[in-house]
Amino acid sequence: MNVKKLEQLYEGKAKKVFATDNPEYYIVDYKDDATAFNGLKKGTITGKGVINNKMSNIMFALLEKHGVKTHFVEQLSDRETLVKAVKIVPLEIIVRNVAAGSFSKRYGVEEGRELKNPTLEFSLKNDELNDPLINDYHILALGIVNEKELAEIKTLAFKVNDVMREFFAGLGVKLIDFKIEAGKLPDGTIVLADEISPDTCRFWDAKTNEKLDKDRFRRDLGGVEEAYQEIFSRINAK
Ligand code: UDP
Repeated sequence: MNVKKLEQLYEGKAKKVFATDNPEYYIVDYKDDATAFNGLKKGTITGKGVINNKMSNIMFALLEKHGVKTHFVEQLSDRETLVKAVKIVPLEIIVRNVAAGSFSKRYGVEEGRELKNPTLEFSLKNDELNDPLINDYHILALGIVNEKELAEIKTLAFKVNDVMREFFAGLGVKLIDFKIEAGKLPDGTIVLADEISPDTCRFWDAKTNEKLDKDRFRRDLGGVEEAYQEIFSRINAK
């Protein structure tokens, strides 16, 4: 599609969003900047922007094939992608298969414990408040989405989990947990937005449990670039 990149609308921690000459489309531009702990830890992961852009697009295309609606339109360059203009629903939608991270801390469960069923939780996207957990009643009470939209978001989240879990199992990778975001098209349709990458998912090697995601950066484990590359290589080898 032929669109012109116009002014920057927004700069987030990992991406910039630009307007285009068509109001129905935005261009996202992925950076190498990495942050953790709500911006307290900052760094650069060389090549991350390119990997996250390409990997997200592969995941969105796969999900579309399985009937999940997404904001993805087409990749424009190594770091740039054309997406449908959406209004982001200010929720972090977190699905977990295995206990890790804040779930393990909050409930005193060892990392790596297989959960009896996939779980879903929401956080309010608000850096000033430190993205607090928020429940269904609160979401509806605040009018963030309505009941029908909330049900759609839950269905979407578990569908994404089913598709991704199977896909990564085929690459010898366990999908521990992930965060997604939903967006609303002008006609109100809810679609999957933002990104799906090692920044937003936990991936463990199925045999060794080696971490192949942003926890290597968060926890100073070393081999950060290599982990992103490893996941990306396995996806490409398929
Ligand atoms: N996550 C994310 N952005 C956030 C918080 C979490 O992408 O602002 C992802 C994270 O990479 C992990 C999952 O959501 O795959 C669950 O994260 P958790 O709640 O355990 O938080 P963390 O331990 O990262 O603080």
